[in-house]
Amino acid sequence: MASEIYSSLKDENPVFVVVLNGAFVFASDFAKNYPGNCEFEFVRLASYEGTNSSGEVKQLLGLNKSLEERTVVVLEDIIDTGNTLEEITEIFSKEKIKQLYIATLFFKPEVFKKEIKIDYIGLKIPNKFIVGYGLDYNGLGRNFSQVYELNNNRMINLVLFGKPGAGKGTQANFLKEKYQLVHISTGDVFRFNIKNETELGNLAKSYMDKGDLVPDEITINMLNAEVEKNPDANGFIFDGFPRTTKQAKALDDLLASKNIAVNATIALEANDEVLIERLLERGKSSGRSDDQDEGKIRNRFDEYNQKTAPLIDYYKNEEKFFSVDGIGSIEEITERLSDVIDGLMISSK
Ligand code: AMP
Repeated sequence: MASEIYSSLKDENPVFVVVLNGAFVFASDFAKNYPGNCEFEFVRLASYEGTNSSGEVKQLLGLNKSLEERTVVVLEDIIDTGNTLEEITEIFSKEKIKQLYIATLFFKPEVFKKEIKIDYIGLKIPNKFIVGYGLDYNGLGRNFSQVYELNNNRMINLVLFGKPGAGKGTQANFLKEKYQLVHISTGDVFRFNIKNETELGNLAKSYMDKGDLVPDEITINMLNAEVEKNPDANGFIFDGFPRTTKQAKALDDLLASKNIAVNATIALEANDEVLIERLLERGKSSGRSDDQDEGKIRNRFDEYNQKTAPLIDYYKNEEKFFSVDGIGSIEEITERLSDVIDGLMISSK
């Protein structure tokens, strides 16, 4: 856009009027790419209660120089209905500007309703809410270096990650209510099957009793079946799955076949001694034999360190890994997790 505008204004010294806040990132990149002489002004549109009949008067704040006889180019981040643009052009029509051009990075032709000529358009986009590269959603997201579509169907798939005892199950119970998600705990499904002496339960029992991982094939098939049981889910919280790279790949494939993906893996961090204490305490009331014996607990930690911890890099590579301090009150930890999840709502990563 910088070269395009330069090629038609090369004999001028234009004033680029940047409409804040959204256009600040665009204006910065634009400025760095504009090869000729030019000046910049930064304005924002504010409304105040006026005494005229309509009650509300719009005003441009921040314009520090006269634009009389100048060539002015308004730099906008996005033009949708054109209401803001209309206000701005109306205000400029009162100045004795030599010529006025409008340039916008994004333009939504489907919703633009005004009779105003837009001289330069970076990209025409469908009528979707976008965030990033200066554009915000409720103030957030301006710092994203890329542009994302707002994930307003709220389909969020989370992996809760962490060693046994980190609080994944406890937190999942709060988060599933808050975000209306389906919670799948592979440990719970195995325990349910063991209790009911199903074929799956019999297969898993010997591994679980020792604190070993159940073989991938059994676990992956079970997980697939659990996901298939919930075709109308808003999203899932996977708790205790994936625990191996093979499981992570299987989860990606399963979700991809439904046109969805893991949005984030959130690790609850706590040190081993705290976790052992918690698990032994839980073992007193839960009746879980794998929680009652420190040797079995340590074996589960070994399994985690060898097979599950490598997944941190797997999800870091995909920029989906978040870490949350798992020490504190249950409410505090829920809040920390919610902060991460709320951040996800503004991106469709
Ligand atoms: P949890 O309730 O998540 O602590 O899981 C208890 C036990 O169930 C583990 O120690 C494993 O034996 C088995 N298990 C649960 N999830 C998995 C998984 N994703 N892969 C293999 N084994 C699992």
